[in-house]
Parts: sequence; C-alpha cells; structure tokens
Amino acid sequence: MLKQTIKTFVSRLFAGSGPKGPARLGPEQHGIKRRLVSHHAIKVCEVLQQHGYEAYVVGGEVRDLIAGLEPKDFDVATNATPEEVRPLFRRARIIGRRFKLVHVVFGREIIETSTFRAPDESDSRTDAHGRILRDNQYGELPDDAKRRDFTLNALYYDPLTETVIDYHHGVADLQNRIVRIIGDAETRYREDPVRMLRAVRFAAKLDATIETATHEPIQRLAHLIAHVPESRLFDELLKLLSCGQAVNCLQQLHDEQLHSYLLPFLAHSLREPSERTFLELAFARSDARVRQGLGVSPSFLFAVLLWKPMRQRWLELSKTGLPSLEAMMQASDEITQQQAQVLPIQRRFYTDMREIWLLQTRFERVNNRAIWRMIEQPRFRAAVDFLQLRAADKEVDSVMAQWWMDLANADSSEARSALIAERANPQTTRNTRSRRRRRPRQRSNATSSD
Ligand code: ATP
Ligand code: MG
Repeated sequence: MLKQTIKTFVSRLFAGSGPKGPARLGPEQHGIKRRLVSHHAIKVCEVLQQHGYEAYVVGGEVRDLIAGLEPKDFDVATNATPEEVRPLFRRARIIGRRFKLVHVVFGREIIETSTFRAPDESDSRTDAHGRILRDNQYGELPDDAKRRDFTLNALYYDPLTETVIDYHHGVADLQNRIVRIIGDAETRYREDPVRMLRAVRFAAKLDATIETATHEPIQRLAHLIAHVPESRLFDELLKLLSCGQAVNCLQQLHDEQLHSYLLPFLAHSLREPSERTFLELAFARSDARVRQGLGVSPSFLFAVLLWKPMRQRWLELSKTGLPSLEAMMQASDEITQQQAQVLPIQRRFYTDMREIWLLQTRFERVNNRAIWRMIEQPRFRAAVDFLQLRAADKEVDSVMAQWWMDLANADSSEARSALIAERANPQTTRNTRSRRRRRPRQRSNATSSD
C-alpha cells in the first residue's frame, strides 16, 4: 500500500514528462549534424560530464540547428551549480544577480552555462498580474524542461551521445513548424508577458504557426506588455528586428495587437503603401545579412523604422521656411519623443540614428571642401548605405547616390580626389561615370554592425 502511494507520488512528480519519461532521439530523428554544433559548447558539456555532471546544449542553438538555421548564441544547461562550474574552466565568470549563471569564454564566443531551474509555482512569487518576480530555484532536468517557454525551446542535446532529450514533443512541433507553449498559455503569459513577443518572433523566424491554445490569449493579454521593464522590451524588439524575417515579424506583431507597446508608428507604416515598401526594401537587405550570419546595427534598423514618419514631419517643417538641417533636427526630436512615450530608444543607438539621418540633408548640396569632413564622420558609411535605400525607393537620384557609394568605396585619397574633381566638373567625365555605373558595386554593408 505504502509502496503504491510512493509510486503514485513519484509518477505525479514527473507528470510533465509522461509515464515513460522523455523521448530520446538519435541523429536520424533530430537531424542535427554534430560538426555544426559549436565546438565550444561541446567542450563545455564534455568537461562537465567528465566531472560527473549532466550537461546539454539547449535552447536556441538546438532549435535553430534542427530547423536548418544558423544558430546565434549558445547555451548549456547542467546540474552543476555556478560555483561548481566556474573552477572547471580557465576563463569563466559568474554573472547575474537574480539567477546566477556562468559565462564560459572562448575568444569571442561565450557559452552561457546555467544550472537546471525549477518553475516556481507558489503565488507569493508573482505580482498582481501573475508576473513572476522570483525565478531562482535550482531543479532537475525535467523541472528545467517544464519552466522553458515553448516546446521547441525545451530540447536538450547531448553532444557526446548525439541524443536529443525531448520532454514535450518539441522535435515534432519544430518539424511541423508549430509554436506551442509549455503548460497553460494564459498562466505562462501572465508570468512573463515577453513570451507573447517571443511566440510571434519564433513563428515569423521559423515560418511556423502559433498553435490555437498558445495563440488564443495573446490579444486579450497584450496589455500586460506595458508592465515589462523597458530594457527587456528593448532587447526583445532588437531581436524581433534582427531575426531574419523582420517585416513578417512586424506584421504579426501588429496582427496580434502587440505593436502599440513597442512601436507607435508601426500601424501607419504598415498600412501606408509607400512607407511599407520602404520597410520591405530596407529589411530585405538586413534580413539577408542576418541569414549570412553578419551583424546588423540597431541604430541603422531604427533609422529605417522611423525614417518615413520623420521625413514627413521634416518636409512639413521645411515648407514653413526652416532650413533643411534645422527642420530635420526638429522633426527627429519630435518623432523620437513620440517613440519614447511608448519605448525610448537607448541613447547610444539614438545618437547614431540621428547622425545617419542628419547626414542625409547634406548629400545633395554639400560643397567639395565639406565632403572631406563628411568622409571623416563615423556614421558616413552607414549614412551612404541609407542613401542607397532612399535611392532604391526613388526618394533621391540614383546617380547621385551611386557617386557617394563610389566615394565611400574608394580606397585611397587619390581615388577620392578624382571622384570629387569629377563631381565638380561632370561634363568632361560623363563617359567615365557611365562606365563606372555599369560596374557591379564593390561592397555594400547596408546595415553594417559597426
Ligand atoms: P534567441 O537566442 O534566438 O533569441 P533563444 O531561444 O536562445 O533564442 P534566449 O533568450 O537565448 O532565447 O533563451 C535561451 C532559452 O531559455 C530559450 O530557448 C528558452 O528555453 C529559455 N527561455 C528564454 N526566455 C524565456 C522565457 N521568457 N520564459 C521561459 N523560458 C525562456
Ligand atoms: Mg539564445
């Protein structure tokens, strides 16, 4: 009798994992090629396992590898505590206040190594909206799987046996392109409303659908986003814009009514064909960079996102007789203030974004001497890239934009002098110019991550 009670108790304890425990899938089922897994993440798992701990590659990397995408960052989950992990590696530091984890550093790659956590289900640790305030209980592997957000994010890859441990049918969901929350959707969104934004991002990024029960509460609970700290929202917004499917993501954000807590101009920009075209054009280029594994600069992305609203205001102010530069300074202040009422753009990005914009006023009317000073400006290259977008959108003359691109690509001051001289006297060099325009562009890093 007692034995049975204990048995029932234990089986209840592991209810989330099903009576037979998790699925263990081999390479032919999950399809991950070990050579594509971060060598450093494998190393961290090896060292931990050699010391008798459990350790798995987890999260985004496993998901993206199964989905055939290039993973961005690398996480390891283990049953070793941070204090146990740190001494095992030459360069490792404990970070985090609320929940400690270890950054194991290999050159430029950081493997974020966290200890299995348990979901904390006691009410005292949530606020009036159900938001989790504390999340710092260590746990076992099944607990850790249960507290993760979506089934496709709760996969544990053991690089030594090449097995994926799957408690929630995440591999099947991933293969069927379904974003499914673990547990009750409303509760999980109340605990952490950012999960709604993540659902949209993974759906757009993986070309997946959000499963019905996972989808149902989103519009109803969208207002909870307003309670999330700005810094987290900002990070999530950057992830949305650089997930490789930016416009898709923005559209879904809008369809779920989540945009108004992040981007006050978005609804108009998506609706207005001329604004939408500009976003599609610009984000197609940055998405391509993301898919090639290249960086994208947040200031450039914000310059794109807010350009058309700012430009409209700039044109209005210019018509009142304000000089172009002043009109743009005022327009950019007004637009960023309106954005800031919802979610402020962090200062470091805002400054660069503004510089990219302000340089636009100079391309058409600058004199030759000032050109040399423009070239020195740190955002010159980004501003020239931005000018190409405007040319592609027929806002400015494409020959003029190409001349600036040639200048930005010129690799010596002689080459620059020649181009500037040609600009001063276009009649004599028209043939040279047209020959050059036919040449393919040397280099364009439209959204360079500098
Ligand atoms: P990416 O790095 O592409 O944004 P990711 O899934 O790796 O995607 P991270 O923020 O790096 O996202 O988180 C790593 C893992 O931690 C996730 O895969 C998920 O398992 C878990 N996780 C992250 N955020 C949450 C959350 N808000 N709620 C529950 N689990 C989360
Ligand atoms: Mg990640």
